[in-house]
Amino acid sequence: MSMTLPIDEIDEPLRAYKFAEVRGTTRPQVHPSGKFWRRAYDHREPATAVCHRRGGHAAPSVECSCGFHAVTEMHTLPDVTEHHEHMVVLEVELGGTVIEHEQGYRGEQQTVLAMRFPETCTHCRRQATHLQPGRVWRSVCTDCSGRRAVNRADATAIFGVDVSFTAPAPKKSQRVLETVRGFSMVVLMMVCAMFATKVSPPLALVVVFGGMVAVSLGLAIATAASRLPRSRESMFILQSVTLFLSSMLLIAIGH
Ligand SMILES: [Zn+2]
Ligand SMILES: [Zn+2]
Repeated sequence: MSMTLPIDEIDEPLRAYKFAEVRGTTRPQVHPSGKFWRRAYDHREPATAVCHRRGGHAAPSVECSCGFHAVTEMHTLPDVTEHHEHMVVLEVELGGTVIEHEQGYRGEQQTVLAMRFPETCTHCRRQATHLQPGRVWRSVCTDCSGRRAVNRADATAIFGVDVSFTAPAPKKSQRVLETVRGFSMVVLMMVCAMFATKVSPPLALVVVFGGMVAVSLGLAIATAASRLPRSRESMFILQSVTLFLSSMLLIAIGH
C-alpha cells in the first residue's frame, strides 16, 4: 500500500478496513495480505505497531511508512492495494497515534473487530456459505465445500471475532489484457509516425512526434508494472490523449 503526503494526526479510535489473508490448516492465523514472510497478527489482542527500520522510532512516524495501514471506506481498498481472490477484509479499530493520509490511515494500535470473507464462492461464484481451511482459507458455497469446511458460526468460534461473507467478490485481474492494450497503443502511435514521415515534416515536428511515441511507450511499460487497476486505467487514458494529439498533429502536417 503506498500512501504519501501525511495530512493530519488524530487521537480518537477510528473504524477502518484492510485486506489480510487467513492461512494455516492446524493453527489458522491472520496475516498481512500478500507478504508471505511477514509475521501473523495476534488478531485476538490489540496490537501495537513496530517500525522495522534500523534505528527505529515509535510507529507510526510521519517520515516513515510504518504503522497499521487501513482505509475508512471498504470500497476504496482495491484502489490502494492489489486485490487477490484469497483476501479477506478485516474490520479494525485504529488507536493511539493515527496519521491520516490522502488515501487512508496509519495507526499505532490495531484491534481486529471482524473478518469479512468474499461473499461469493471462490470456485463457482455462487453465494458463499462456508470457509474451506487450507494453506489459505477461502469462501466456498455449500456444493463446493469439502471435508473440514466450517460454517459462519463455527468460524466465528474458531477465530474469536465475528466472521461473515460480506466482502465484495474480487474482480478478475485484467492486467495482461491491459498490458497488451497499452503496447498496442504504442504500435498505433508508430503507424502514425510512419505516415508522418511520408509527408516530410519539419524536424521540430518529427522531434515532437518522437517524444509522444516515447511517452506512450513509457506509459505502456508503467502499465505492465502497475499492480493497481485504477493506475492502469489512468495510464490508458493518458495514452489515448497522446494518440489523439499525434493524430491531430498528423492532420495538421498533411495540410
Ligand atoms: Zn518507521
Ligand atoms: Zn461453489
